[in-house]
Amino acid sequence: QPLGVGQAVALGPDQSHYLFSVMRLGLNAEVALFNGRDGEWRGVIEQALKRCGIARCTDQTRPQIVPPDLWLLFAPIKKARTDFIVEKAVEMGAARILPVQTRFTNERIREDKLRAHAVEAAEQCEATYVPPVEDLIPLDKLLATWNPTRRILWADEGLQGRAALLQAAPGPWAILIGPEGGFSPEERTKLRALPCVNPISLGPRILRADTAAVAALTLWQTTLGDWV
Ligand code: SAM
Repeated sequence: QPLGVGQAVALGPDQSHYLFSVMRLGLNAEVALFNGRDGEWRGVIEQALKRCGIARCTDQTRPQIVPPDLWLLFAPIKKARTDFIVEKAVEMGAARILPVQTRFTNERIREDKLRAHAVEAAEQCEATYVPPVEDLIPLDKLLATWNPTRRILWADEGLQGRAALLQAAPGPWAILIGPEGGFSPEERTKLRALPCVNPISLGPRILRADTAAVAALTLWQTTLGDWV
């Protein structure tokens, strides 16, 4: 919903339950509103019912902040760890999250639940942006139509122990993290042949995929992203 001076924002059943039953807010309480486009707004509760409500925007409290153009591609792993990856990707400032099906991916995901986690994570870290979480897509299919101007930081467990050499090339990037079983030989050959792929080591130890995602996001953010 759009946010602007005097704009009424309808609150759905989940939001109303959280605000009015869990947080016990009532009429005239103030809330922070964001929609991923219009920055953060102060809202005043005008209607507080069990399953719905209305907040009215008064003034903008923070401008819209869009993260750098960095996507996270990851192969889903066990549910709790996949949830962790999505939560941390939001906190770490990924602009788009793409779960990818690789040869050794065994886990199924519920994209709707992951999207809800992304919203919660943005609320928690006071971000004004929620990265879209896309439907699971086969890695082969994604690479077949890949725009080569977007470079790929491929966390390649085969480079374990080497120095982490990230090309300092500005522009759009994506991070690619494999599943518990790593990448298959065919996937490795395909990735190595792509000029836009920057294979990288994440140090001398094999990290769990969720740790690897946070490590790669940190490395990129400190080299090319908004931590610089
Ligand atoms: N089963 C694989 C093996 O033993 O080689 C390990 C897979 S690891 C648990 C999951 C993913 O994290 C990998 O596919 C890779 O993307 C990333 N990863 C973990 N440790 C890494 C490292 N030291 N260097 C680069 N990538 C790493």
